[in-house]
Amino acid sequence: MEQDISRVKSAELFEKAKNYFPGGVNSPVRAFKSVYGTPLFIERGDKARIWDADDNEFIDYCCSWGPLILGHNHDKVRDAVAQQLDKGLSFGAPTRLENELAELILTNNSYIEKIRFVSSGTEAVMSAIRLARGYTKRDKIIKFEGCYHGHSDSLLVKAGSGLVTFGETSSAGVPKAFAEETIVISLNDKQALEEVFSSFSDQIAAVIIEGIPANNGLLIQDKDYIHFLRQITQEHGALLIFDEVITGFRLGFEGAARYYDIQPDIITYGKIIGGGMPVGAYGASKELMAHISPDGGVYQAGTLSGNPIAMSAGIAALRILAEPDFYTKQEEKTRSFIDTIRAYIDRRNYAVQIFTVGSIFWFAFTDQKSIKRADEIDPLSMEKYKVMHRSLLNQGIYFGPSGYEVGFISSAHTQEDLNQTIEAIKTALDTAFA
Ligand SMILES: *Cc1c(COP(=O)(O)O)cnc(C)c1O
Repeated sequence: MEQDISRVKSAELFEKAKNYFPGGVNSPVRAFKSVYGTPLFIERGDKARIWDADDNEFIDYCCSWGPLILGHNHDKVRDAVAQQLDKGLSFGAPTRLENELAELILTNNSYIEKIRFVSSGTEAVMSAIRLARGYTKRDKIIKFEGCYHGHSDSLLVKAGSGLVTFGETSSAGVPKAFAEETIVISLNDKQALEEVFSSFSDQIAAVIIEGIPANNGLLIQDKDYIHFLRQITQEHGALLIFDEVITGFRLGFEGAARYYDIQPDIITYGKIIGGGMPVGAYGASKELMAHISPDGGVYQAGTLSGNPIAMSAGIAALRILAEPDFYTKQEEKTRSFIDTIRAYIDRRNYAVQIFTVGSIFWFAFTDQKSIKRADEIDPLSMEKYKVMHRSLLNQGIYFGPSGYEVGFISSAHTQEDLNQTIEAIKTALDTAFA
């Protein structure tokens, strides 16, 4: 039995937190239900590293679930926030900072012409769906099993039984009537798309898909399939929504739209866009965005939308991302990291695949060389992830607390960090397959 790191203080804090919050947390996955031990309470972060309440040090590959593409406590982001702090926290009136962030995004992203800032990815997606419904005057939406789009009612829906059916709610409290407007199908299945469109052609407002599905493993779709999706939506007058809350500013400044060379109708952003502060956004053509209030009839608002502190962090972060070669460097670093681990896996003949795109990676405990659909993931394989996760924590490496979560590499991860991680992963894999 391996020696676990001390979690005494984290455990104490967690016990306390249970009195205050359902399950002791403010977002479910943080509760460590899918891995060993109690959740670590984090005290601080710097560059690629975080420290918990027991003063354990970790190299972080969760990166706040993606936003921290520059690592923790980046000096430029911190300075920008500090400067704004002197001027006030919130006004509920327009500021030049909103213009600045919008300008930075719109001049470097050819896939949207206008943008609206909100405060989370969930809000961005919820608003995009409303825009699609308002614009098309249709109600139904299509989503894919294995894609996560935040926790709004229309999207907490999973596949029912049968190839093409209305969804079933995936959370208590979501009215059945909502689920009836959401059709859920499998990824990578052209036939299912054709069937839904032939049955409901003039009722479908939009199809929503993650830029690259990265919330339930990393389900990299073929270009050909995404282009088919673009084509079939166009033929039927339905909009295509790219939910780029993870892939936006991660795969490149122009995200998955550029990666696939696809023009979606609406794109949603979150995570990275706020430089670590709560920001989301949705964007589209001028014509579509003219339907948003106060210009148009689709209502959407927010007391703290475009918050100056959050805008400052976003501007500072995105300026760095817009520099030439930023993404090429991240990709090269990630590729060599993954290649080294793959070579070890091959030598040991372990049943593990590492799927990767840009600076995102996902370990899948399987022999299958390709996974494109949620139902191709074997839930039993997660047992091995649990063992790996525990061993990694004990060696000072922080991975997301679920085998369905992807990992992220930031610009703050040094070659030394990555080398240390590679050695830890080798040991963790040996433990998982012992
Ligand atoms: C994280 C995420 C969301 C939800 O964003 P929140 O800021 O957590 O509300 C929506 N869509 C995708 C693709 C995400 O990864």
